[in-house]
Amino acid sequence: MHSLNNSTTQQQLSFVLRKGTPVNVDQTVKEYYDQILQRNAGEPEFHQAVAEVLQSLKYVLRKDSTYAEYGLIERMCEPERQIIFRVPWIDDQGQVRVNRGFRVQFNSVLGPYKGGLRFHPSVNLGIIKFLGFEQIFKNSLTGLPIGGGKGGSDFDPKGKSDREIMAFCQSFMTELQRHIGDKVDVPAGDIGVGAREIGYLFGQYRRINGRHENGVLTGKGLNWGGSLVRREATGYGCVYFTQEMMAAEGKRLDDTRVIVSGSGNVAIYAIEKAQELGATVVAFSDSSGYVYCPEGVNLELLHEIKEVKRGRVSDYAKAIDHVEFHENGNIWEVEAEVALPCATQNELDGESAKILADNGCEFVAEGANMPCTPEAIEVFRKRKIHFAPGKAANAGGVATSALEMQQNASRDSWSFEYTDKRLRNIMRNVFKVTARTAEEFEQPGNYVAGANIAGFRKVADAMLAQGVI
Ligand code: NDP
Repeated sequence: MHSLNNSTTQQQLSFVLRKGTPVNVDQTVKEYYDQILQRNAGEPEFHQAVAEVLQSLKYVLRKDSTYAEYGLIERMCEPERQIIFRVPWIDDQGQVRVNRGFRVQFNSVLGPYKGGLRFHPSVNLGIIKFLGFEQIFKNSLTGLPIGGGKGGSDFDPKGKSDREIMAFCQSFMTELQRHIGDKVDVPAGDIGVGAREIGYLFGQYRRINGRHENGVLTGKGLNWGGSLVRREATGYGCVYFTQEMMAAEGKRLDDTRVIVSGSGNVAIYAIEKAQELGATVVAFSDSSGYVYCPEGVNLELLHEIKEVKRGRVSDYAKAIDHVEFHENGNIWEVEAEVALPCATQNELDGESAKILADNGCEFVAEGANMPCTPEAIEVFRKRKIHFAPGKAANAGGVATSALEMQQNASRDSWSFEYTDKRLRNIMRNVFKVTARTAEEFEQPGNYVAGANIAGFRKVADAMLAQGVI
C-alpha cells in the first residue's frame, strides 16, 4: 500500500517536473509516428491521417511543450475502444453470408462519440480508424459538444435487394445496439449508408430496446425525428466553406466552373448549392467514370437518376444531350477554377493535382474525407492553390447531426431556413477559427495546419483537464 502511494506521488511529481520542459520537436514527433507505425501495422490510411496531424502539431509543440506531456498525443492516437463483430445475414437465395462490423469509439472527451457508418467492400479496421481519428478534430472544430467515432462494415450494398439491405442492417444493429445510445455514441450515415439504411437500423434499435430513443442515430427520416437540412448539410457546408475561402482572396463563386467528384449524398448537394450560388458544375462522377457537362448539371435529372432510381452517372449521360460520359476517365482533367472532391479517400493524387494547377484551378475544398493524397496537397502548396481539408470543409454534415440531436433532446423541429442559417454560421465560424489559428502559428492561408491545430487544442485542453484516463 505504502509503496503504491509512494510511486503514485513520484509519478505525479515527475509529471510536474516534466511539465513544459523544452522538447526536440522533430525527434519527439518522429518517435510518436514510429510508435503509430509499429502498433498499427497494415493500416496505411490511418498512418496517413495521423502523419498529417502530427506534422501540424510541430508548430504547437514548438510554442508549448506541455502538449508533449502526460502521454497526451499517444492517448489521442489510441482509440478509447474498438469493437469488431460478426454480421451474419441471409441473402435472397437463402445463402448465409457473413460480413464484419466495426465501431471505433475514438475520443469522448468533448461529448458522446459521433461519426458515420460506412458500408463498402473496402472497409477494414484501418479505414475506420482513419475516419474516426479525423472525426475527433472535425467535431471539435464545429464548436459543438461531440466526441469522435466511426463505424461500418465490408458489406457491399450495390446490387442488393431492399430485403437483403434490411436483413443486413437488422443483423448489424443487433450487435451495435449494445454499444450506442444518445448519451454514449450516436452514429449516422456515410458511404453506402443513406436514409434507407438509417431507417432499417433505427427500426431494429427501437425493436430491441423497446423505446423511441430518437437521439441514438442521426440522418433519420423527417417524420420520425430527422432534421431538415441534414441530407443537404455536408455538400452545402462544403460550398459555404469554399465561399468563405474565396471571399478571403476577394473572389466569388458565381461565374466560376466547378468540378465535383462523386454523385452520392455529399456530391449532389455540393452541386445543388454551387449552382444555386451561380457557379456552373462542369463535371461529376462515380466509380465507373465521369460526366462532362460544360453547360452545367440538370439537377432534377440527377436527383431522379441517383436518388430515386439508384442509377449510374452513365444513365445521366444517356438521358441528356450535350454531355459526354468518360468511362474510367480522370475527372481532374476537366478545366475549372474550383474543385470539390466529394467521393472517397485518396481519389486525387499528385499527378491529378498538377493537371488541375496547369488548367488554372485556384481553389480545392474536400467534401469527402481525405480525398487528396499528401503528394496532391504538396502540389497545391507549391502552386499556390488554396486548399481546404475535409475536417474543416465537410464539417457541416456532423454539425447538422448535432443540430438534429438538439432538436431530438428538446422534442422540437426547426424550419429549413433556420437550420440552414445555423449551418451557414457554423461553417463561417469553422473557417474563421481555421484561418485565425493558421495565422496565430505564422502559417497564413495554411488551412491544413489551422484546422488540425484548432481541432487539437480544444480536445487536448479537455483531456488535460479531465486527467489521465
Ligand atoms: P455516398 O455513398 O452517398 O456516395 C459516394 C460517392 O462516391 C458515389 O458516387 C460513389 O460512386 C463514389 N465513389 C466511391 N468510391 C469511389 C471510387 N473509388 N472512385 C470514384 N468514386 C467513388 O457517400 P457520401 O456522399 O455520403 O460520402 C462521400 C464522402 O464524403 C466520403 O468520403 C464520406 O466519408 C464523406 N463524408 C460524408 C458525410 C455525409 O454526411 N454523408 C459527412 C462528411 C464526410 P459509386 O456509386 O460508383 O461507388
